Amino acid sequence: MAEDITTIEIEDMITVGTLAERLSIPVSRLIGELMKNGVMATVNERIDFDTAEIIVEELQLGVQLSKSTVDASAPAVRVKAEASAGAPSRPPVVAVMGHVDHGKTSLLDAIRGAHVVDREAGGITQHISAYQVEHGDRKITFLDTPGHEAFAAIREHGALLTDIVIIVVAADDGIKPQTIEAIRFARKAGVKIIVAANKMDKDGADINRLYSELAEQDLMWDGWKGGDTPVLPVSAKTKQGIPELLDMVILVTDVEELKADTDVPARGLIIEAHVEQGRGPVAHALVEAGTLKPGDFVVAGSSYAKIRNLETTDGKPLKQALPSTPVAITGFKTLPEFGDEFQAVPNEKAARNQSTTSANEKNVGSRNNIGSSELIRLINRNNEVQELNVIVKADVQGSLTSVIDSIKALDTTEVAVRVVSSSVGAINENDLHLAQSAGAIIYGFNIELPSSARQQAARDKVDIRLYKVIYELIDDVKTGLSGLLRPEIVEHDLGRLVVRGIFNTTKTAVICGGEVTKGKLTAPALARVTRDKEVLGEVEITGLKRGPQEAKEVFEGEMCGLSFTTTKRIDLLEGDHIEVFTREAIQRTL
Ligand code: GDP
Repeated sequence: MAEDITTIEIEDMITVGTLAERLSIPVSRLIGELMKNGVMATVNERIDFDTAEIIVEELQLGVQLSKSTVDASAPAVRVKAEASAGAPSRPPVVAVMGHVDHGKTSLLDAIRGAHVVDREAGGITQHISAYQVEHGDRKITFLDTPGHEAFAAIREHGALLTDIVIIVVAADDGIKPQTIEAIRFARKAGVKIIVAANKMDKDGADINRLYSELAEQDLMWDGWKGGDTPVLPVSAKTKQGIPELLDMVILVTDVEELKADTDVPARGLIIEAHVEQGRGPVAHALVEAGTLKPGDFVVAGSSYAKIRNLETTDGKPLKQALPSTPVAITGFKTLPEFGDEFQAVPNEKAARNQSTTSANEKNVGSRNNIGSSELIRLINRNNEVQELNVIVKADVQGSLTSVIDSIKALDTTEVAVRVVSSSVGAINENDLHLAQSAGAIIYGFNIELPSSARQQAARDKVDIRLYKVIYELIDDVKTGLSGLLRPEIVEHDLGRLVVRGIFNTTKTAVICGGEVTKGKLTAPALARVTRDKEVLGEVEITGLKRGPQEAKEVFEGEMCGLSFTTTKRIDLLEGDHIEVFTREAIQRTL
């Protein structure tokens, strides 16, 4: 009798405890099964869907898992706060996305250059994670996501920060894979999409073609009947169309009626963190609700601060920051993490307590997720997954997360990246020691190499690779991983000989003669000796003779003498066949 299968929906990540509960089995049984599969997980640890699926199948409970319809790559992690009825309006938060080289940076620069609220103060030395511009009497916040080609980090943490996504498409190039990825991301995040048809100044720009290509992605230009996607022609180079693009952002904002309370304790998200000489940890954050002021106590993950300086992200002091304002905060005791939520608390005691609780939770492993790649690796332990050891260093937490996420995504069942260590900041002595002892390559993203470290690395033969473009870094890791793949062995048949005479046979060598019946024979080459299709052994052809002359090649229809060496004795008979081939090891790529 066929067993009834029950389907249970689970999220992309689930704790061991919750999964056991959903399956109605004792948690110990689930932990036991995980262990059998080489996954050491405690009740509070989270496992991913793929791992859960494998384990549940092994348990044979008549249960199958399906992914919850709440898409986990959508921002399910955080829920946008509801504002109270009388809450004031807030500026929109806009992210700019699109295919590489389509002009995201140029567009963000153009908008910022022309409209930035304050340009003098501070001098921009650090990467700007977000900035606010004034357009008429309105403000707009732009997220300039670190390494903004890589959506990984913002996808996970920042999606709900964003109200509007501007998808930049070069009008002379049209929709490309990352454009589609950006559209998909914006859809999942449930945000409004505005398309900026960039590079309109170029000869090949064709906005009509773009309308059609967008329609293929279910984005109907609002100039068409029934369409609802604004497509604005712009040029980041000539600045043509930028005021109209910002007008559209304001228009969409007004339709969306974005509001946030200002009289609640301030809270928001850390969007970047780095250490600055003389200033200590500096966190960039986006205020989502409440009013943040210098002197406030804030907790972010396991770190807390009494805000020493509250500034715009380009260094202008702020007396207060209202919702949708990007700010730079100094005063944190330790470096908060990209994606940490921050919250204002009444006093230092509350700040200390809350940050300690958070640190403890972290230690019991609430963030200690076991990914499917980990499982794949464990399951394959007999098969020996080849690992590429790397140390990752980056300028800011956001890029670090992006780089790690992106390179971990390259893992396969055969090869995997092992991040031996990762941190924000310049490459230091510790990194070099670790790289040497772990045989790791150091990847630096957007960082400089101090000359002392360069010298030490040269002395210790540590491989350091610095990148400013994330894709180039990923490609390099990919090449490294490809190098670890076992090569593919390809055989090329050359020709065949039928044995007509045996001249000399020892245990390890044979000299014979025969007729080439197919193709050509060469020496040196490999060959199989066969009798009635049965393989007697694999041998190495060492020499060929046409008559008394040594020959490199003999062709179909010719008679020749042939000598080969063999590792096991072959008693060759007339009529046996010798099938000659070469074997090539082809390096595979990922
Ligand atoms: P990103 O990779 O999407 O950030 O693209 P960039 O902003 O770095 O731009 C890629 C290239 O396109 C650069 O060489 C820019 O100078 C050029 N570019 C960007 N916008 C325009 C534009 O509106 N017109 C022209 N002609 N070139 C542009």
